[in-house]
Amino acid sequence: MKLILDKNISKYYLQTLCLLFFPGAKFSETEVVTPDTPVVEVTLKNEDDGAVCTATVTIGDKSVSRTHKEMYDHLPKNKTENMAANKAFFSAAEAFFGYTPPWGILTGVRPTKIVLDYLNEGMTKDQTVKELRKRYLLYPKKAILATDIARNESKIIKRYPLDTCSIYISIPFCPTRCSYCSFVSFTTKKLLALIPAYLEALKLELSLIAKQIKETGFKLKTIYIGGGTPTTLNENQLEDLLSYIDKLFDTSTLDEFTLEAGRPDTITEKKLQSAVNHNVTRISINPQSLNNYVLQEIDRCHTAEMFFKAFETARRVGVPCINTDLIIGLPADDIESYSDTLEKIIDLAPENITAHTFCVKRSADILKGGRDIFARENFEVSKCVDYTQIMTKKSGYIPYYMYRQKNAKANLENVGYCKKGTEGLYNILMMEEIHSIFAAGAGAVTKFVGERNVKIERIFNPKYPYEYLEQDREKAFEETRKIMDGFFVKG
Ligand code: SF4
Repeated sequence: MKLILDKNISKYYLQTLCLLFFPGAKFSETEVVTPDTPVVEVTLKNEDDGAVCTATVTIGDKSVSRTHKEMYDHLPKNKTENMAANKAFFSAAEAFFGYTPPWGILTGVRPTKIVLDYLNEGMTKDQTVKELRKRYLLYPKKAILATDIARNESKIIKRYPLDTCSIYISIPFCPTRCSYCSFVSFTTKKLLALIPAYLEALKLELSLIAKQIKETGFKLKTIYIGGGTPTTLNENQLEDLLSYIDKLFDTSTLDEFTLEAGRPDTITEKKLQSAVNHNVTRISINPQSLNNYVLQEIDRCHTAEMFFKAFETARRVGVPCINTDLIIGLPADDIESYSDTLEKIIDLAPENITAHTFCVKRSADILKGGRDIFARENFEVSKCVDYTQIMTKKSGYIPYYMYRQKNAKANLENVGYCKKGTEGLYNILMMEEIHSIFAAGAGAVTKFVGERNVKIERIFNPKYPYEYLEQDREKAFEETRKIMDGFFVKG
């Protein structure tokens, strides 16, 4: 795809917007144009009171142009110019394809961050919805969804000042690989053999984190064990890790302790009993779909029956809060089969339901062989997303957190729903960057938050378990400690 932009227009943001209409496009300014090459040209003219941009979208002999003027009223000049360019392109592409992306020109991962800022400025719900519509061109239902979530979040966030913190523990192993997965998860026999050494290194890192939290006076509020699939650990390994965590931190005083069990094929009664014995309050059991042919299509090595059994066991051993993850838009799924899954899940009454829109990165196995699962326009998926919202509301759930991903089908969102008072706290704290998160394990990212939206520092652990194992843990943590000291002393 060829982009010809005025020099004052940000290439990065416009490219992100182009992906809404041209999924998976590659960009070039010098590409030789063939009749199939999409060409986007944006010109800019500054007037006394605003920036005027004209965007033209051309493929072969079809061409559509639109002009937008953004007034110099609320943003710095360069941001106003870019806003004019983005809106001009959006309306030209909308006219070219006859398709309107539901989130307008808002492309970030965390839409509710902007909404929280509006609410903090004192805007009412109606004013916030109006502003999202005007500034970012959101569909009304998306503006209302984001505003409702942010309003609920703002009540929870107040309970977590900057001297509180969370811990994330990464278990990047899975028993087998699902075909849509692009996560760095270790599944081969040789790599799964790293688990015992990995757990020792992880325990050492956790002990260093515990010492650091104690010395700095942070109040630990939530722990999240995520993956991969943490229940890939066998019963003894999981019991050993949980009892180690229990000894290091007073888990009985936590507001939330999540174990993302994930795949039903890894769950046993003994593992769930260990979790409950060590004060785990929330477990994710993720069917993704309850249609066995859909599960087969995505190489998920479990059946719907295995999910029901795992769910029943979790209830029997007394897990206080169960989350179930679903994916909307999976290959071989359609509105009838998805609705059937959703209704069966609602009948089980889990405390949390997280509905993701199907999203794959280019590296996923499912795309090998040129299979195209990206759809610019996908009414089925939109209907499933809407149906989820309607049915959860009818059944007493509220949307409590959300995020978006690039390449999601029909550019739609992921939403966590909960029964009132059972919000997944870590999800909110992490997504809205409310307080510091110490992270342990391969691929984990520690995040220090000194001031929301303003002062945030991230420290990345090595991505792969073998790199993590090669690292001198104490030396690596010493670096983290130094960064932390500098970060919080600088003021
Ligand atoms: S369970 Fe999740 S992380 Fe593991 S292979 Fe499947 S999609 Fe990837």
